Order: sequence, then structure tokens, then C-alpha cells
Amino acid sequence: MIREELAVACYCDIAGQIRGKGFPVSELDSRLASGVGWTPTNLMLTAFGPIANGPWGPFGDLILRPDADAEVRVDFQDGSAVEHFLLGDVLNTDGSPWDCCPRQFLKRAVEDLRAETGLQVLAAFEHEFYYFGAQERLGSAYNLDAIRRHGIFAEVYLAALRAAGIACDSYLAEYGPRQYEVTCEPARGVRSADHAVIVREIARATAQRLDSRVSFAPAVTPDVVGNGVHIHLSLLDGKGMPAAYDAEAPHGLSRIGGSFTAGILRHSRALCALTAPSVVSYLRLVPHRWSAAWNNLGFRDREAMVRICPVNEIGGRDLSRQYNVEFRAADATANPYLALGAIIRAGLEGLRQELPTPEIAACDPETLTVSERKRLGIERLPQSLDEALEALKADETARSWFPEQLLDAYLRHKGAEI
Ligand code: GLU
Ligand code: MG
Repeated sequence: MIREELAVACYCDIAGQIRGKGFPVSELDSRLASGVGWTPTNLMLTAFGPIANGPWGPFGDLILRPDADAEVRVDFQDGSAVEHFLLGDVLNTDGSPWDCCPRQFLKRAVEDLRAETGLQVLAAFEHEFYYFGAQERLGSAYNLDAIRRHGIFAEVYLAALRAAGIACDSYLAEYGPRQYEVTCEPARGVRSADHAVIVREIARATAQRLDSRVSFAPAVTPDVVGNGVHIHLSLLDGKGMPAAYDAEAPHGLSRIGGSFTAGILRHSRALCALTAPSVVSYLRLVPHRWSAAWNNLGFRDREAMVRICPVNEIGGRDLSRQYNVEFRAADATANPYLALGAIIRAGLEGLRQELPTPEIAACDPETLTVSERKRLGIERLPQSLDEALEALKADETARSWFPEQLLDAYLRHKGAEI
């Protein structure tokens, strides 16, 4: 059969979906310069299909311009169509950034953090997902047999990720039936969010080649273990040296790392509207599901919203390069650019105000008295998307992170999804 390769320029929207337009691959160079036409109201497409009522209606035109640094081309060599897409930015027709482009929301946050503090964020999004093609097995967690029981999925997936330029750090069978987890190498700023999109899309592409499906839904069904997206974060100073670690500080968290984390905790209730932005996100964010239910900082505590992760001391390794904290109140229904951008904005507020390092509660916050929680500044995270959106509306500082039109579109979109 005759064939011609298609490349797709795309972006991640408010619904966390990847949408865009394709063109013949022979036109790639010209499309890298000029992009493809786009429509403002496309941003209002919900995860369920219908378009939320937005500010633009049928009016307006934009350009979606692919970024050559975010190109993915994977040939599965099974005769299926080449997986060729490029993530990009949404621009006005004069080439200026569109206020509502999620990728540029993150770019601005990264740039403001650098300009004000000289710091850069290094991040890795750790993903859990269900692979429906796996044979279920009782007691599957971490089980070698559970890996075996999902056939060649892992091998094809790792090869496809490698072809997409992403190195897998670890891969395992998670606690839930047919649940797996993939962690990839960290990357700086916008690149890390690009990687989050690519990790999800390549999992979907792999499953499709195997006539199956994956789901990153925070709760695939209400009763099974949730799929988290744990966002690992560390900071680099202007010379590229680790800035969140201080061997002398309690739990190794430097003054800078402490202020950054304190900012995240302070704005955590509003952040959930961006990091856990679906109705089903709140089936996962409940106590004792190893996700996060309170806005606390924990030391190696897998139910803390921000967890100080372990470092490997074997053989005198450099701890500063391993040191990171993990934001656990996120899932894959979130747009990774909006989620990371908002986390950086919250961290930057903490740095601006030189907030002290939050105190660590070395226990389950539920077991503390109300006054003890108050003293530690520990609050329950929102228990529904409605509550999270209200928290965002009520947090004047968090609202100021967004161009007016983006915030308006976001709130309307999520309202429609509810
Ligand atoms: N599945 C848990 C979540 O929803 C995380 C389990 C773990 O610690 O890896 O976040
Ligand atoms: Mg896990």
C-alpha cells in the first residue's frame, strides 16, 4: 500500500489532552517556521468531548508552532504508522505568545524564577498506570510474574521511549492489579513537562500497537489503587550546582529548598485545582491511600503532600546531586505545564518572602490534635474539585500567577467538566 508519513504539531490543553494538526512530513521545515492554524475555543474542549462555554465562541485565530526540541519520531517497525509528533507553543498570528498557552505559562514561571533568584528547577514526573492487556494476578505488587504477565509491553515501551529520547530510570509492577509504574531521568524546566507528555503518549502508542489500552486515570475504578503522578523536584543555582541540599540542615533541606517548599505548602489548596484537576482526582486524594490528604512536608513519608525522598549513601555517593523532594498531590489529568508552572510560582512566593522551612510532622496528621495541626500549619487538602476551584478563587496570590483570560477559561472549563 502506498503511504506518506504524517507529522503532528500538538500541545497539551486544559483537559490534559494532546491535540493538534498534522501535515506531510516533507513540510516539516516550513511548519517549524510557520506552525499550523489553531482556534482559541479548542482550549475549551473538555476531556469528555463537549466544548465548555468559553470567552471566544467561534471567533479568533491562533498559530500552534511546533518546537524542534520537542520532536518525537518513533517507528515501531511493525508496519504501523510512524508515531511522529512535535509539542509546541500557541501563538497569536503576529507571533507573540498567546496568554492562554499552557507551555508558555510554564516558560514564564521558569524565567521569573531564574531572573529573580538565579535558580532552575530540575524535575521528573513519576507515572503510575494500568495496562489492560496484562493478565491479572493476585499479589502482583513488585512481582516478577506480574511483569511477565504483561508480555512484551515493557520491552516495546522502553525501546519506544529510548527512540523518543527519554531514558527510563526504573520500571515496576505496582500495587494494583495490572498497575505499573515508570520513572524517567529528570530534566530542566519545560523539558521535564514535555517528557511527562511524551511518557504518557508513548505508553498509549505502545498499548495501541499491542491492541490494548493504558489508563493514567487517578482512579480507574473507585475501589482500586490510584494512579499518582509524583513530581520530583530539585533546584540548581546559577552555576548548575544543587541548591536544595544542605548537609548541615535538618533532613538535608537547605534554607532555599525550605522556603521553596514552604511556598508550595502555603498555596497547596489552590495548587490542587491545577495538579489534581478532575472530579475523580479526589477519589485518590484521601487518607491512607499512599497519595496525599494534608498539606504537609514529610521525611520519607509516602502520605505527605511533599516528601523528602531518600538518598543513596552507598560508596560515598554525592548526596547533593540525588537530593529531591516529591510533590505527591498530582495526577495525569493535570496539564503538566500548568501543574509545574503553578508549583514553581508557589515556590517562588516562598523564596520572595523567605518563609522558614516547614516543620515536619513525623506522624499521620490525622492523629494530631486540631491545635497541634494549627501550630504546624497543617490543613486538609480539598476533598472535591469544586472545593479546589473555590480555594484557587480565594487565593489572591495564586490568582495573580495567571493571565486573566487563562484563569477565566480554566475555571469555566473545569466547571463544565464537573
Ligand atoms: N499509588 C499511590 C498514589 O496514588 C502511590 C504509591 C507509591 O508510593 O508509589 O499516589
Ligand atoms: Mg508508585
